[in-house]
Amino acid sequence: MNDKPIHSITPFTMLDFPDKLACIFWFSGCNMACPYCYNVEFLKEKGKITKEYALNFLDSRKGLLDGVVLSGGEATLYKDLISFAQSIKQRNFLLKLDTNASNPLVLEKLIYFDLLDYVSLDFKALKAKEHIFIKNFNLFDNFLKCLKLLQESKISFSVRTTLHSDILNVDDVVKMEKILRENGYEKEYFLQHFVFDKETLKELPKHDREQYKGIKNIVFTN
Ligand code: SF4
Repeated sequence: MNDKPIHSITPFTMLDFPDKLACIFWFSGCNMACPYCYNVEFLKEKGKITKEYALNFLDSRKGLLDGVVLSGGEATLYKDLISFAQSIKQRNFLLKLDTNASNPLVLEKLIYFDLLDYVSLDFKALKAKEHIFIKNFNLFDNFLKCLKLLQESKISFSVRTTLHSDILNVDDVVKMEKILRENGYEKEYFLQHFVFDKETLKELPKHDREQYKGIKNIVFTN
């Protein structure tokens, strides 16, 4: 078992957990390879922080933070995630999970044990394009399973998609929104434009924001 699952800690954020003051635990490792990924260090480098260190950090932040964001990388790959999440909740912190939607089994366990207060769920692509993000894996089907689990739970959650014009076109996005609505998702669907300001996993051409301008019913976050 990896005894240092966390790459780094952001000690304070007002932006990453809706209406809460939080810290972020950035997990090392991911089972996907999104071309636009800019968290390359979390993919390439091993973790440096133990769960004990992270929990001690939280003990020092009691009364100062409302919650913890588990992000990465992909936090659901951490084998000890359930007991880690239980330790966080026992300390009375709210818990948010950012996930690439590849791991409905772990999400189901986290929901079953009532460990989550908010989930940010990535909707990467339609089935026809899932191979761009991950090979030999039913990402689209797993996304739908995660969506269903969350729809049936009482947990607050939102769905988001990162846009790069070389990967998803307007037609894709319109179809993705339709799929969400057909599956009962009535809340806001968030789109974030790819921003080229860091090294990415693969070299990409310039992102063309303009082509998405006519899209309706979807919230652009940048
Ligand atoms: S952007 Fe993709 S490759 Fe990067 S951490 Fe997220 S899911 Fe993994």
